Amino acid sequence: MITKTVDTILERALAGNDLSPEEGVVLLKQTEPGTLAAIRSTASSLRREQAGDTVTYVINRNINFTNICEQHCSFCAFRRDEGEESSFWLDTAQILEKATDAVRRSATEICMQGGLNLQAKINGSSLPYYLRIVKAIKEEFPHLHLHAFSPQEVQFIAREDNLSYAEVIAQLRDAGVGSMPGTAAEVLDDEVRRILCPEKIDTATWLEIVETAHQLGVPTTSTMLSGHIETPEQQIKHLLLLRELQQIALEREYPAAMTEFILLPFVGQEAPKPLRRRVGRDQPILSEALLLTAVARIFLGSWIPNHQPSWVKLGLAGAKEALEWGCNDIGGTLMEEHITTMAGAMGGTCMEVETLQDAIASLGRPYQQRDTLYRYL
Ligand code: SF4
Repeated sequence: MITKTVDTILERALAGNDLSPEEGVVLLKQTEPGTLAAIRSTASSLRREQAGDTVTYVINRNINFTNICEQHCSFCAFRRDEGEESSFWLDTAQILEKATDAVRRSATEICMQGGLNLQAKINGSSLPYYLRIVKAIKEEFPHLHLHAFSPQEVQFIAREDNLSYAEVIAQLRDAGVGSMPGTAAEVLDDEVRRILCPEKIDTATWLEIVETAHQLGVPTTSTMLSGHIETPEQQIKHLLLLRELQQIALEREYPAAMTEFILLPFVGQEAPKPLRRRVGRDQPILSEALLLTAVARIFLGSWIPNHQPSWVKLGLAGAKEALEWGCNDIGGTLMEEHITTMAGAMGGTCMEVETLQDAIASLGRPYQQRDTLYRYL
């Protein structure tokens, strides 16, 4: 039975209204199968209206250039101390080798992020190290889109070199960074962040860096790490902050904005024990991830029209299911993935283009290759 309240909320969303946080929370708390079906159907209708039936994908390669990191996020199975077994730090030649392989396999994008490595410096400065990697790739492959460095990495560089966020972002942009991953957002609630990632930038700093990127013409994505200690209220608060940030970028006509929203359900299998114990399971609960996927589509409205599930976290079958709950993009081929795979994800580390196309076609929807900025190729 659809309650009157849910019915009214969904009607309001379908009429193009932005839902209030209270309305968003009501949707997230539904459990009755008929109501969940109505939420799913509303998310699908809005997806069709805002992004069409076509499901896009991008041919990209992940390059995680180091897992040596000064921080100790409670969900992170990727980080290592310097000198620790299985720590790694790629040199420029190794990074270029991976980029060359990506181009050979028709990639249009390199997605690059790494740990916060205090040794990654040139003459004692951090930014020149990052610029050297960017320039090395762009000189060799000028047409390759570089989607690189999270807001946390921007803050790390700025802190190490005593620069403003704008100076760091502008220099990275001028060297060839085409867009920034909206990662390190986790859940934009400082109460959650104090437990999940106490050393990371706080909510206000994340928002400030992403807004600065938009002002400087650098598009970003947006993400949420879900399914650990956060409440439905905190999930909606996160979505509200993203929606407001996008409204600012669009209404003030910044030269760039957020291109997409990606839900990243928590994988705890190899996560540090305290958080794993607290969450009490190793893999995401698909039904929870799907409901949040649908509510994100409904709540973000037409402000962020592109929604992507994570096949790394949910597996391809789960990601395919998410296409029926409001998503219009299936993400990238990745070619390699370390961060979630080291956390114990079972989705794999690489997808062939044909595998993604077959998954989309099996839903009776057309597929289309896109670039990082959602232009059809
Ligand atoms: S999530 Fe990122 S910042 Fe946090 S410990 Fe892992 S690598 Fe470091």
